Amino acid sequence: MSDPHYDIVIVGGGSAGSALANRLSADPDRSVLVLEAGRSDSRAAPFIHMPAALPFPIGSRFYDWRYESDPEPHMGGRQVYHARGKVLGGSSSINGMIFQRGNPMDYDRWAQAPGMAHWDYAHCLPYFKRMETCTAGADAWRGGDGPLSLKRGPATNPLFQALFTAARQAGYDRTDDVNGYRQEGFAPFDGNVHRGRRQSAARAYLHPVRGRANLTVKTRASVTRVLTDRGGGAAGPAPRAVGVEYVHRGRGRRVRAGEVLLCGGAINTPQLLQLSGIGDAGHLRGLGIDPVAHLPGVGRNLQDHLEVYIQYACKQPVSIAPWLAWWRRPWIGLEWLLLRRGVGATNHFEGGGFVRSNEEVAYPNLMFHFLPIAIRYDGTSPATGHGYQVHVGPMNSDARGEVRIVSPDPRAKPSLRFNYLSTERDRREWVEAVRVARDILTQPAFAAFDAGELSPGPSVETDEEILDWVARDAETALHPSCTARMGTDEEAVVDPSTFGVHGVDGLRVVDASVMPDITNANIYAPVMMIAERAADAIRGVTPLPPSDAPVYRHGQHGDAPPTG
Ligand SMILES: Cc1cc2nc3c(=O)[nH]c(=O)nc-3n(C[C@H](O)[C@H](O)[C@H](O)COP(=O)(O)OP(=O)(O)OC[C@H]3O[C@@H](n4cnc5c(N)ncnc54)[C@H](O)[C@@H]3O)c2cc1C
Repeated sequence: MSDPHYDIVIVGGGSAGSALANRLSADPDRSVLVLEAGRSDSRAAPFIHMPAALPFPIGSRFYDWRYESDPEPHMGGRQVYHARGKVLGGSSSINGMIFQRGNPMDYDRWAQAPGMAHWDYAHCLPYFKRMETCTAGADAWRGGDGPLSLKRGPATNPLFQALFTAARQAGYDRTDDVNGYRQEGFAPFDGNVHRGRRQSAARAYLHPVRGRANLTVKTRASVTRVLTDRGGGAAGPAPRAVGVEYVHRGRGRRVRAGEVLLCGGAINTPQLLQLSGIGDAGHLRGLGIDPVAHLPGVGRNLQDHLEVYIQYACKQPVSIAPWLAWWRRPWIGLEWLLLRRGVGATNHFEGGGFVRSNEEVAYPNLMFHFLPIAIRYDGTSPATGHGYQVHVGPMNSDARGEVRIVSPDPRAKPSLRFNYLSTERDRREWVEAVRVARDILTQPAFAAFDAGELSPGPSVETDEEILDWVARDAETALHPSCTARMGTDEEAVVDPSTFGVHGVDGLRVVDASVMPDITNANIYAPVMMIAERAADAIRGVTPLPPSDAPVYRHGQHGDAPPTG
């Protein structure tokens, strides 16, 4: 029996994969197959749908790929845990739901590289708008009718109000909307929460169209290799992707494809490319893999955000700590199940801000997330009682790492080395980050709440002590990216207009891997914007026209958006 054939096979039903599945299957003449290694995102599993339950899927073999970095050379050989969503919706089904576009100047920086001129913010903004419904209000910067419904704040806990006042006291402005005219400053944040539930990419894009006759979604289908029709000799035609091999419920299978879209995320996509013979030819030969295309940039340029939690004890009983006591959890769960409201219906990351930590940087290099509780991302807490914390770290680090397979066996996890804290600039910005955070958290506005710093605590004061603590305590903010970057130079992997893999026909990459440089905030929104743009490029429709809405640039524009 011959292998089944689809016009498009999407590898990974995660964030980008869900958006592409929707947009590409809108054309009924095009058959689309989504192969997702993880399980379905069933409504019966409340931990991936209740916003406040976000720590639970992390580390779970049912939902998480459970990666770990190699021993990090500048962190005393520590291995940093990396969660990645392994379920329909991918990482958007287990993430923190914080919605951040990044700074407009991030994209203007992308656009400076050869062949990337159309990646400036003016060209990205229409797609950011198309994908969202900003429930706080649509305007020249925000969308009003897209699939991703965004909930603002509300950041009404008195500790958020203390944060906003304290930031002002420390010399940092308020802003109306960090995703709007002006990012720099402090404000309530948007989140991917709709009617009290997490709204993953699968829920926003994939489930509403699952009834389409031309769309097939297979879960627990792990792709092990991209099939190509010939090894392209130097003078011969380029090799072409013709399908994939995958394992479904323990059985090896094949499917043929008009084209293959890789959407496995910034770790799995370079892994799959390398397993398929696309990467550094010398490295692949060393593992016994026949190179199909020599693309040395595959897996390189790995970037991420590292962060610390600066935690304070709170002398007033206003934090949300008591609500998370074990004996209250059933009631929180019940209220959420029945009414979709209460403590369970928010991710609690309801506000924060963006700061330039020195005058050399043109736009914010630090992001603050504030939580009205002292707790680690995995749900562990340093102390009982009331507390609060900020998450902070450098957002534009120049540290670069690599994803490399260590075996031709697709079940073997790849080596991940991030080189956190490896550069002079990164270390300087780390010291600035901790000092700015402490400056804000010790302003008069916090006097009524501040019962002393819990972590790192007063014994960490000098630059060396701060860096030593960061090396011991920092965690990833879970934004690995840039490992198959767009561009036209020798290390670039993907064409910036077509998303095609250089030197291989019929194969594209659309996920966090293609970002050339990480943006200065959480990266889910940029990934979704990239997917929206890729959908238009693949369908061959005319791209949306660039926006002429002005954006704030420090020292060049007014603090408030222009009116009239
Ligand atoms: C715990 C956590 C918290 C985060 N918090 C935030 C946040 O609050 N805000 C924010 O903006 N960002 C956050 N992020 C980051 C953000 O969610 C991701 O960067 C983004 O969702 C990545 O999208 P993607 O499409 O590149 O990959 P993913 O969404 O991870 O999708 C990849 C999909 O491909 C599947 N897959 C991989 N390999 C294969 C294969 N071989 N065969 C078949 N399927 C495969 C995976 O199972 C997965 O479903 C967080 C991430 C995590 C893990």
